[in-house]
Amino acid sequence: MLVVKFGGTSVGKPERMKKIATLVREMPGKKIVVLSALSGTTNTLVRIGDHLLAQQHTAAEQEISTLEKHYEQFIKELYGSESYQAIGQEIVSRYFSLFRLLSAGKFDDRSYRELLAQGELISTELFYHHLQEIKVSSRLLPALHFMSIDENQEPELEKISERLKPILGTMSHVDILVTQGYICRNHKNEIDNLKRGGSDYTASLMGAAIRAEEIQIWTDIDGMHNNDPRIVKKTVPIAELTFDEASELAYFGAKILHPSTIVPAQKYGVPVRLKNTMDEKAPGTIISNKGSRGEFKAVAAKDGITAIKIKSSRMLLAHGFLRKVFEVFERYRTSIDMISTSEVAVSLTIDDNKNLKPILEELTSFGTIEVDENQSIICIVGNLLSEKEGVLREVFEALKKVPIRMVSYGGSYNNISILVDSSQKDKALNLLNEGIFHL
Ligand code: ASP
Ligand code: MG
Repeated sequence: MLVVKFGGTSVGKPERMKKIATLVREMPGKKIVVLSALSGTTNTLVRIGDHLLAQQHTAAEQEISTLEKHYEQFIKELYGSESYQAIGQEIVSRYFSLFRLLSAGKFDDRSYRELLAQGELISTELFYHHLQEIKVSSRLLPALHFMSIDENQEPELEKISERLKPILGTMSHVDILVTQGYICRNHKNEIDNLKRGGSDYTASLMGAAIRAEEIQIWTDIDGMHNNDPRIVKKTVPIAELTFDEASELAYFGAKILHPSTIVPAQKYGVPVRLKNTMDEKAPGTIISNKGSRGEFKAVAAKDGITAIKIKSSRMLLAHGFLRKVFEVFERYRTSIDMISTSEVAVSLTIDDNKNLKPILEELTSFGTIEVDENQSIICIVGNLLSEKEGVLREVFEALKKVPIRMVSYGGSYNNISILVDSSQKDKALNLLNEGIFHL
């Protein structure tokens, strides 16, 4: 069984949705097709929800009407026959009545999450009926029947797997099952979601839950690239990555994958293939346990980083100092990305500033604190970096004109992280492209 996920842009236009129907039909074997909402829909639903929470009903109604027209046009182009036009119209009317019902009632956080879930529900329903119209046999598989998160918002992989098995058993004669990405139920059995971009995560959780042959993530670029194509002119797709390398890249800024996607796939060793809907012949990127042993595979950058330096003579020869520092971050549920220490100081970085103020207040009792905001982590990813001679020399040679605030190396075989002021980021990425990839 394959799990194949198509993102918002792959279903965002009627002709694209038709194209993925053809792609899916031609794939051999059984597959579960995971869809995102049509591109732009979740953003619009977020705006509608925000208006409703702020009691701005007119603004919400304007957004609803504009979105409704978009869907009416969409079904006109998606379905060929009059009878399917009528089915499409019925679907659109039903969803937009629900939006208006939600906006007329008491709108709270729970209604907000219910509203956000509709994007994937409508895209899968429209797609399923398109398959029906072109006589491709398929079934809808309702994600809200099996996808769940616990009270800490963590997906319940084992439960998902247990619920899926009997459902799939009853559908064993069907080749194509269509389901919703992103949406799930929470521990109160309310409708919830896996956070923005979460459809990739759904695909990976399902792939792991059923021990799929492969998880395929179809987007609109040809796999992971060695560098950020928005910043660097010449980038190349990477053919193979290990799970560890891909996790580092997804976390540190390669926008192509939701950062949590790798975790469930890696747990059960299910390969993840990144493919391009616009160019289905392109090989894309395969992420697996095997991965080739190249030296430098890719660089990525993550912005919005804050560096905190704690300097204290009490750290000298003392034990337990770092533990006390880390406990402060733990209390505020703020995770630390990079650390580097000297005998009397420790520098660390966080990417979530929400609790910066109280964290800093508590840290002042340990020593003098310095804070640098607007920093970027440049992450260089590859295999066996520490076994190769001269790896650091090559990196620093490339970056010799860039002021470096922090370095972290040796934490894993796969990563060298460098912290620079964000104003230096573009320059650093370009210099690395020339210096280590020779592009
Ligand atoms: N529709 C959701 C979003 O836009 C989930 C996804 O597309 O992955 O964030
Ligand atoms: Mg996405």
